[in-house]
Amino acid sequence: SKEEGRGIFRFFQEEMNLRLLKRKALEADLRRALAEGELRLHYQPQVSTDGLRLVGAEALIRWQHPVRGDIRPDQFIPLAEETGLIVPIGDWVMRTACRQAAGWPELRRIAVNVSPVQFRQPGFVAKVRETLAESGLAASRLELEITESILLNDTEEMLAILAELRALGVSIAMDDFGTGYSSLGYLRKFRFDKIKIDRSFVRNLSGGSDSAAIIRAVLGMSHALGIRSNAEGVEEAEQMALLGQEGCEEAQGFLFGRPMPAEEFAAVIAAHGTG
Ligand code: C2E
Ligand code: CA
Ligand code: CA
Ligand code: CA
Repeated sequence: SKEEGRGIFRFFQEEMNLRLLKRKALEADLRRALAEGELRLHYQPQVSTDGLRLVGAEALIRWQHPVRGDIRPDQFIPLAEETGLIVPIGDWVMRTACRQAAGWPELRRIAVNVSPVQFRQPGFVAKVRETLAESGLAASRLELEITESILLNDTEEMLAILAELRALGVSIAMDDFGTGYSSLGYLRKFRFDKIKIDRSFVRNLSGGSDSAAIIRAVLGMSHALGIRSNAEGVEEAEQMALLGQEGCEEAQGFLFGRPMPAEEFAAVIAAHGTG
């Protein structure tokens, strides 16, 4: 009936108001977190498949909430992107990671995730240049991880920005490779320095599996193009062995180390040495 319809409508409206309220509260909370220093970076080792040398680290953001405990990036990065808060947060990430890596001269490379929203900000390249200068980190030690979604719109403009970044001397990795629509086409337009094979392919990796066939094809292509590969989410020795056999250069995953606080990662550097 009409009555019931109105009741249902009111119910949905209340539900939506509640969601909006929660969103607003989380946004305010995140703003405060940034101002009060509740954000942290953790570092996850990246190793060579031949010899397991430490070749780099990926910086991954963590939110240590005073009441709710640790909040995973998946639970606040999307909101940060919608509200634009990702811009100051991304600046903080870049600054913190570069400073930290400058203090780890033995570490070859630090990888930093860049949101498409951040990447599209006017002046992004200048900001990267300033952050490098201010931290004293050599550009060749910084790797920016971007997803192919940045190339979906204004492709030519985005390719020009990638080229400017490349000219600074930083390297560019395509993150989550294989999960988007046209990864292959973009590889022809821009010669990424590295592709990061998405965890979903590594997870189901065993001899003769479909994932093994896909990874073999991806590596065949990346080798033909002279692009290095990093396999994400390596948890088992068997996966590592297969990746090594297929010629994947680098791996990252719980098998070698979880993302960890800076002090812990400093101990890893000291223990392993690098190469
Ligand atoms: P991502 O860039 O693909 O990062 C890899 C994710 O896989 C990380 O999750 C890492 O903890 C997780 N991981 C690594 N090895 C393994 C493994 O062996 N097994 C499993 N199950 N997981 C593994 P995390 O830290 O929760 O980050 C999630 C996503 O949040 C990242 O995915 C990235 O898209 C985003 N993110 C994290 N930090 C930042 C940041 O500073 N800026 C931006 N824009 N995004 C970030
Ligand atoms: Ca990443
Ligand atoms: Ca990834
Ligand atoms: Ca991801």
